[in-house]
Amino acid sequence: MGALDFLDQELKQLRADGLFRTNRVLAGPQGARAVIDGQEVVNLSSNDYLGLANDSRLKEAAIAGVRDWGAGTAAVRTIIGTMAIHEELERKLAAFKHTEAAIVFQSGFTCNSGVVPTIVGEGDTIISDELNHASIIDGARLSRAQIVRYRHRDLDDLEAKLKEAQSSRRRLVVTDGVFSMDGDIAPLPGIVALCQRYGAISYVDDAHASGVLGEAGRGSVHHFHLDGQVDVQVGTLSKAVGVLGGYVASNRALIDWLVHRGRPFLFSTSHPPAVTMACIRALEIMESEPERHRRLWSNTAYFKAKLEDLGFDCGHSETPITPVIVGEGARAMEMSDRLMKEGVFAQGIAYPTVAKDKGRLRTIVTAGHSESDLDEAVTAFAKVGREMGLIP
Ligand SMILES: *Cc1c(COP(=O)(O)O)cnc(C)c1O
Repeated sequence: MGALDFLDQELKQLRADGLFRTNRVLAGPQGARAVIDGQEVVNLSSNDYLGLANDSRLKEAAIAGVRDWGAGTAAVRTIIGTMAIHEELERKLAAFKHTEAAIVFQSGFTCNSGVVPTIVGEGDTIISDELNHASIIDGARLSRAQIVRYRHRDLDDLEAKLKEAQSSRRRLVVTDGVFSMDGDIAPLPGIVALCQRYGAISYVDDAHASGVLGEAGRGSVHHFHLDGQVDVQVGTLSKAVGVLGGYVASNRALIDWLVHRGRPFLFSTSHPPAVTMACIRALEIMESEPERHRRLWSNTAYFKAKLEDLGFDCGHSETPITPVIVGEGARAMEMSDRLMKEGVFAQGIAYPTVAKDKGRLRTIVTAGHSESDLDEAVTAFAKVGREMGLIP
């Protein structure tokens, strides 16, 4: 009898429920086409929106980072783990987001889990969109503030919840900028207006909006012309930027506060130079090559229109995340497997990540896809969709 034997039972149950999974494995770089489980496929499941993850200039920057600055930093930021390049990246991010200052964390996840508890605590209320990311939920729990969920993108419900929280010391309204499962956009102008009316702090997680929405991909705040009106903007360096990391862009006071109270910043080692140098290069490319951003959106429009013409239910997506909703989770998984046989990878998503009857394939088009990649994908979707009776 081992102390971990209870896990055998748990894993057996997962298998019985058909929920046990093994990871798909890449045999080479991430990209619009990739070798997945030994097969070359059109890849519709990465977050590499701008095709930067395997860009030769980012790779050269990473190599220069190792050569000139070493493999690791061997200290947390607040002891002696801050290099000049870390601060250079933060200055570039603040300029990119049009804020006073920015601070980088190890990942988008640690950003949310670390930042929320520095803003609110006991006696405060967090008012959170019901479909917000897991890292926001973890940050909210760590804060010990009261957590209230409002209906997805529902401003009336948000207002009702703000009214109920009037007696709290502070109120924090948190939303994803772009929602990862449906590709819809938070109604930021309405959220900001309500935050101003009810004296709440506004916090937007732009993980799927940075590099995607707004001029040059500055994010959802810029997209809605709300520069300077959202208190806290979180972004990731792990999706469109193509590397790894998370950041907060805000006013100087919050950034200074995070240097003193952001626990992942204080207690976990800083990014290796290769990561930081590649991020700096990525930001330069995002600003100097707007055609990547345009290509992302023209590819998105092209692919979405083709899927809709075929008769698929693509939900309410407004961004390069296009769900193909098929119903039961098992159907989504079956469709994903069948597409793989046709040379297309689109991840199936089932309950509990989405509602029981809203199982789906989640596709993400990137700037790296060629028209023939997308045509190939559409042909496979048409064939499998007809075989499964999903489209006429
Ligand atoms: C992906 C994601 C994160 C996590 O970012 P990482 O840099 O991968 O840790 C946080 N928030 C949202 C909304 C995300 O989609």
